[in-house]
Parts: sequence; C-alpha cells; structure tokens
Amino acid sequence: MIQASPATSGVSPALVPEEVDPESTLSFAQLPLAPGTLQNLRQLGYLRMTPIQAASLPLALAGRDLIAQAKTGSGKTAAFALCLLTKLNPRRFAVQALVLCPTRELADQVTQEIRRLARGEDNIKVLTLCGGSTMRPQISSLEHGAHVVVGTPGRIMDHLQRNTLDLAALDTLVLDEADRMLDMGFFDDIAFVAKACPKNRQTLLFSATYPEGIASLSRQFLRNPEQIKLLEQHADTKIRQRFYEVEPDQRLAAVALLLKHYRPVSTLAFCNTRQQCRDLLQVLRAEGFVAQALHGELEQRERDQVLIQFANRSCSVLVATDVAARGLDIEQLEAVINVDVTPDTEVHVHRIGRTGRVDQEGWAFSLVSGSQMARVDNIEKELGHEIEWHSLSELQAAPGKPPRPPMPPMVTLLILGGRKEKIRAGDVLGALTGDAGFSKEQVGKINVTDTATYVAVARGIAKEALRKLSAGTIKGKKVKVHLLQDAAG
Ligand code: ADP
Ligand code: MG
Repeated sequence: MIQASPATSGVSPALVPEEVDPESTLSFAQLPLAPGTLQNLRQLGYLRMTPIQAASLPLALAGRDLIAQAKTGSGKTAAFALCLLTKLNPRRFAVQALVLCPTRELADQVTQEIRRLARGEDNIKVLTLCGGSTMRPQISSLEHGAHVVVGTPGRIMDHLQRNTLDLAALDTLVLDEADRMLDMGFFDDIAFVAKACPKNRQTLLFSATYPEGIASLSRQFLRNPEQIKLLEQHADTKIRQRFYEVEPDQRLAAVALLLKHYRPVSTLAFCNTRQQCRDLLQVLRAEGFVAQALHGELEQRERDQVLIQFANRSCSVLVATDVAARGLDIEQLEAVINVDVTPDTEVHVHRIGRTGRVDQEGWAFSLVSGSQMARVDNIEKELGHEIEWHSLSELQAAPGKPPRPPMPPMVTLLILGGRKEKIRAGDVLGALTGDAGFSKEQVGKINVTDTATYVAVARGIAKEALRKLSAGTIKGKKVKVHLLQDAAG
C-alpha cells in the first residue's frame, strides 16, 4: 500500500512507483553502497536494480572481473559506474577509473550518468577525452586532475603516448560497448591502453552482443572473469514482428510502401551495407520522405545534426548500418525495418529491441528474399514460435488515393549560436513563447551545442517561428536562424 506523502500529494498513488522492499534481491540497499549513494539513487528514481545490475553489481563490488552482455537500455552504465565510484578515493588526486567507449556521443552519455550517480559524493571529477576535440584543453584539464576518465580508445592511446595521461593509480578499467569498439577496428588501441594499466586492476567488459573478438579481448586482458548473459526476450505483445517476402529488386520500394501504409512517426531502417544505405536514402527522398542516413563517413558535426533531427521528430526515417546505429538510445521509435534480414539472430533480436521500449508498442518489419529464408528459420528457432508472414500486396493503397509519405510532426530551426554565446534552452523557449506568442506545446526539443542551437517547432508554425526569431532577440541579441533542410541538397 502506498501512501501519498506531502511531496507527492496531488499525484495519483498509482503513478508513484513503489520502492522495492529493502530485503528484496532487487533492492540497491542489499549492496555495500554508501548511505549517500543510496539516497541519491532514490532521488534519481532508481528504486530497484535492473536485471543486469542485479546480476553484475554484487560480483563487481566484490572485485571480480566481468563480461556482461545485455541489450541497449538495460542500465549497464550504472552497473559499472556504481562499482568504480564505490572504490574511488576522492582525496586521492589521480585517475582511478577509465571507461573506454566507441564514440564521443556515448562517452558524453556515460560521463553524464557517472556525474549523476556521483552526486551523493563530494567533488568527484569526471573528464571526457575523445577525438575530434583539440588536445590542449584536454591536457590542461588532465593537469588539474581527474578521478575518472571516459574516452574513446584512439584518443586515450594518444594521451598515453604523449605522457599526458598517467594510469599508474588505476583501479578500474571499463570496456563499454566492447562489441562496437571491435566493429570500429579499435582492438589494437584497446590492447595498447589495457597494457598501460596496472596488472592488479579490475576490468569490466560490457557488450550488447558477443562476437568472437570479445573472447580474445577477455583472454588477454581479463582475470578469471565471471560471465553474465541476459538476453531478455522482448515481450511479444510489445513488438509486433511481421516478415515480408520480397524479390531482391523490390526491396527498397517495399520500404517506402511499408512506411506509407503503417505511417510510423519515427523509423530506424537497418541496411547491411553502406551502399544500401545510400541507395535507400535516394529512393525515400525521391518519394518525398524526410529521411537521413547515419554512416561512418559523416563528420562529427553532421552526425550530431542527423541525430538531433531524428530525436526531435523532424526526420521520419533514419537509415543506418548496425555499426552506425549501435548504442544509440532513441526514445519513441515506432518502427524498425530490417531492409535486409541479418544472418545473425542475436543482431536481429538486438535491432528489433530498439522499438517497443517502455510502455509503447512497436513494429518490426523484415524484408526477406528467397535466398535469405534460412536466416528466418534461425530467428524462428530463437523466438521459439512461428513467425508471421505477410504479403506486400496487403500494403497497396486504396484505389484512387495515391498514398503520400507521412510528414514528421516537427521541423528543426538552427540558431547560429550556442553555449559559447551563453544561450540556454530556456532562453529559446522564452523567446518563442514570450513575444513570439507560441504555446509550449508548439515547441519541441531544444538542443544547445557549443556553437549552435537546434529547436524543434511544430511543422505548421515553422516559417512564422523562423521569421519571428529572426526579427526578435535572444538574451537581448539578434540571432541568425535557418530552417534546417528536410533533405540534403
Ligand atoms: P545501457 O548502457 O545498457 O544501454 P543505460 O545505462 O544507458 O543502458 O541506461 C538506460 C536508462 O535507464 C538510462 O536513462 C538510465 O538513467 C536508466 N536507468 C538505469 N538504471 C536504472 C534503475 N535501476 N532504475 C531506473 N532507471 C534506470
Ligand atoms: Mg551503454
């Protein structure tokens, strides 16, 4: 029975998640954590451990090396962060923990999560070191001292070679998204970094899948690791999977057909190759879809822009390879399309697990050509039940009504100016809802980067919002605003 406390009165008790019984194996109170940490977890709304946390934290806190496998969004960050923070001595000014991540975005996410989890402790410094930023500020930050470093393998190796990073006092090494780091060709860099760490450190390896390279990494760099594997079955009711047989030359057109029929607001379309990504993007844009592709050739800034537009709902379709998409945590994904069904069952389960998160339902469509049938047999075995075949002919539009592509609900405006100009999200929201007279509901996500601000506005008011922002001021200053192109070119 939950009693509405004064702080939550007015909120329906059913909406207040109940803290788990402290005696339960899922309670954080079962772990050897400081009282301040436990209180901080409660404040963060972490009321019980996720399955991967419950499986890994007791072992990690006991000092064991781990290989932990669980899908994206299962709470792996806190699983290693709580371990490294618990061992940390704040009064010792040396790098005591290092987390290697595949990309800058993931490193930023991990840094933020570690900082949130460290709030219960005094002054713990967490530093991000990634490529794509200049070395000098990183070096001076290192000189000022950091307890925890989060970074990409290449850049960390760079610092080690220049002697600007000292790992002699390191207690914990974390390899986060190890599978993706291997996909990106970081094996040698990881090996270099691991060899620069003290031998008696603890090593925690996290991964969503378990390709061969992981075994090789763990043999070389982990000591008698405990292996934890949690491949949770996705609730079938939440993800509705449908398989379509296609002729190879119908494949890309079939994607457009699916999108016009089901009209999901946000779709992630997986291709097996970069060339297929390019081809699909061309087909979708020619049909009038607002689509973007995520691939390794993008510059960091372009990649950020694509992700911001997709996450703020001003781009309907994100076309990507597994390598480019792994580790992205995208909320509100209505559909996943396997443009080519993958030969790897685990990858399939991982791909479709990106939709149907939390309490939403999601679609997962797979296009299969005759020669790929064996792949579906394997998926069927893994699922343990028969899969649903559907025919493309069901998707034909009603006669006389040419189906139009669904338009994203939002449009992104780009304001030239960001953190460096002291612009904050609240300033932009204020400018739109104040003098410009728009309602809060017409304004979506606002992303402020160092030099630019991206604001999503309802499609219907985009032109007017652009005009009013350009005519008005933000923080008393005039700003340059552009409508971000719906399609490249
Ligand atoms: P992963 O690394 O496995 O993809 P993350 O560590 O990014 O997953 O966690 C996914 C989300 O779940 C984050 O928003 C995080 O804040 C949240 N989260 C993690 N652990 C808990 C918990 N015990 N209770 C509630 N939310 C949690
Ligand atoms: Mg993660």
